[in-house]
Amino acid sequence: MARYTGPACRLCRRVGEKLFLKGERCYTPKCAVDRRRTLPGDRSMRRRRISDHGIKLREKQKARYMYGIMETQFRKYMDKAFKQAESTGQNLIRQLETRLDNVAYRLGFADSRRQARQIVLHGHLTVGDRKTDIPSYSVRPGDVIEWKESRKDNEYAKLMSADLPKRPVPAWLELDVQNLKATVRRLPSDEELDTTIDTRLIVEYYSR
Ligand code: SF4
Repeated sequence: MARYTGPACRLCRRVGEKLFLKGERCYTPKCAVDRRRTLPGDRSMRRRRISDHGIKLREKQKARYMYGIMETQFRKYMDKAFKQAESTGQNLIRQLETRLDNVAYRLGFADSRRQARQIVLHGHLTVGDRKTDIPSYSVRPGDVIEWKESRKDNEYAKLMSADLPKRPVPAWLELDVQNLKATVRRLPSDEELDTTIDTRLIVEYYSR
């Protein structure tokens, strides 16, 4: 599937917010959003007034950029969220949160979702003892995600495990640092979902 392979910082500048796409660099003064509050491109020195539709579009793009998802796939998540009971917006975020690449990021196996995606694609993880190299794989309660046994000795795994847990692990996941293994205890509750995304705007954007 096609991916955006351009500069990550450009995406943050496009939505005018820090999306934390580059791991540690995002917390340093080198962050492009902190240094330049302008839109990317030569003719965009000043932000123009944005329409209601533009605000909704920007929120949708922000969610896509954060989770590294292309438009077609995002649309599929949205369609599924519309069909599910209860809150559409929260169902959308729940689907994004339970992607295997996001789970690897939440567990601290990677500094960013982009890096987590690479880890999955390179076959470093197993789910229920089976090699799973599909970043969009949707984890389920009871799934056991483990760093592949034969790769636990590689340099990256050693460095990464010495630093775990890097950040607070959500309560719906249980991390066993010693064995580089995690269990999905349950699906994330509404309260545990990312609140930096205004899902109401995204739902309105797709409800036109
Ligand atoms: Fe975004 Fe991180 Fe780049 Fe800052 S450093 S613009 S937060 S990706």
